Amino acid sequence: MNIGEVLITADEIDAKLKEMGDAITEDYRGKDLLLIGILKGAFVVMADLARHIDLPVEFDFMAVSSYGSATKSSGVVRILKDLDQEIEGRHVLIVEDIVDTGLTLQYLLKNLQVRKPASLGLAALLIKDGIERPPLEIKYEGFHIPNKFVVGYGLDLDGKYRNLPYVAVVSDATVPTP
Ligand code: 5GP
Repeated sequence: MNIGEVLITADEIDAKLKEMGDAITEDYRGKDLLLIGILKGAFVVMADLARHIDLPVEFDFMAVSSYGSATKSSGVVRILKDLDQEIEGRHVLIVEDIVDTGLTLQYLLKNLQVRKPASLGLAALLIKDGIERPPLEIKYEGFHIPNKFVVGYGLDLDGKYRNLPYVAVVSDATVPTP
């Protein structure tokens, strides 16, 4: 299988994460911030973004799986791993790799909101353009990308390519069909 065009280079990602990290540092100064990474994809973003945040943050992770095909989210989400801790009264920032239909995040926001955090924000490295999605306030955005299937920097195809240091498009022929 061929990795297609590199959409975003490793250097561009690092520069963007530094911007996002600086903004988060400003906004949450003096607050007790808990970062929640959505596995598996967000583990790379989480690790690199967190190192650009100059605050004593804590980490937790959730793993979810979306019912549907390999490339299309259905909005019905199954929690495979829940948080290790309570978030009531905490300032929580969800870190996502990519927002496609937004259905996974919509579900997670609802699910976490009922646990009564002091605040609940969203950071996402990639946002796909040209997609109708429920209104989501993504407070810290990385890059807007075209509506194509991408891999790298945590994003997989059949479990592989998460370790690529850049984000690349996969040629259509190799994307699993629904
Ligand atoms: P959503 O619920 O926003 O449609 O889907 C979010 C999840 O779908 C992401 O966290 C990611 O796991 C997966 N996803 C969406 N678009 C892509 C893509 O272009 N490439 C890869 N590898 N995964 C994607």
